[in-house]
Amino acid sequence: MMKLFDLHGDTGYAVMKLRALHKQNIIADYQLGKRKQGGFQWLCAASYFEGHETWEDMQAMITALHEEITLCDDVSLINQKQQLKKPNPLNLILSVEGMCGIREQVEEKIDWLNAHDIKVGSLAWNDENALATGVRGNPKRGLSELGRRAIARMGVHGMVIDVSHANEKTFWDIMTCAKSPVIATHSNARALCDHPRNLYDEQLLAIAENGGLVGVVCAGAFVHRDRDMQSISQLVKHIKYLKQLIGMEHIALGCDFMDDYDNAQDTMLIDLNSPKDAQKIIDELRSQGFQDAEIRMLAYENAHRFFMQHLK
Ligand SMILES: [Zn+2]
Repeated sequence: MMKLFDLHGDTGYAVMKLRALHKQNIIADYQLGKRKQGGFQWLCAASYFEGHETWEDMQAMITALHEEITLCDDVSLINQKQQLKKPNPLNLILSVEGMCGIREQVEEKIDWLNAHDIKVGSLAWNDENALATGVRGNPKRGLSELGRRAIARMGVHGMVIDVSHANEKTFWDIMTCAKSPVIATHSNARALCDHPRNLYDEQLLAIAENGGLVGVVCAGAFVHRDRDMQSISQLVKHIKYLKQLIGMEHIALGCDFMDDYDNAQDTMLIDLNSPKDAQKIIDELRSQGFQDAEIRMLAYENAHRFFMQHLK
């Protein structure tokens, strides 16, 4: 079985949803088995915020995720890069998707995130907030002054900036002010699927030229417009396209499985809706002619190398 490194899963969000249904031991009971079965050894576990949440909401989700990780012996939290070298069990790198709860005291709040082991962050989800503008916000608006301060403070802590969900203006604002390589944790090629969450060629090239990564996403709408084309085979077409454009060393997986809290049968790929079946991606890569060395790069090596270089 190929080891896998997933740049995006909404683990914090799933914890809150399942806690609201009075479930306990959420990571152990709902996540770990499927992740192990699928071959995952590393996962960027996101706390996700749509735009209406307060700072206290952000703190509550991140704190709940920490509690669940503590309850699960088979899961390790990565708080320094040396821990990335551990083999099994599942290693979690905490991330934040959207920082709408930060409206003032930017530096103090980024420091709080850092103190709570957040290693990766995007400033906005699809919304427009005090820091930045997501894909559904005003196209003329990008990073705010507060957002620039957030980027600078994240840089101080070696927190990796995620540009998935940024609108174009925010994307290019980040590219000019970020001091380290950025990643798009879960986005595909816009040339193959014209969805605002996917990236244009110039954006993909800019990420690669700066030494960053693009995680390909298994949510159906980002793979193809037609439901019956939202397949692993079509996902591999995106990977082929990215390989041609930016090179294999800049591609990773950013699956975004939503099976713990959403109707994954309708939102994920028609032939892949749970992390337990993720090795099917590897099989399809082989059958479409990818070499083992290339598959390993995409499966885990690129992401592992990136975090070894950039985490403190
Ligand atoms: Zn997302």
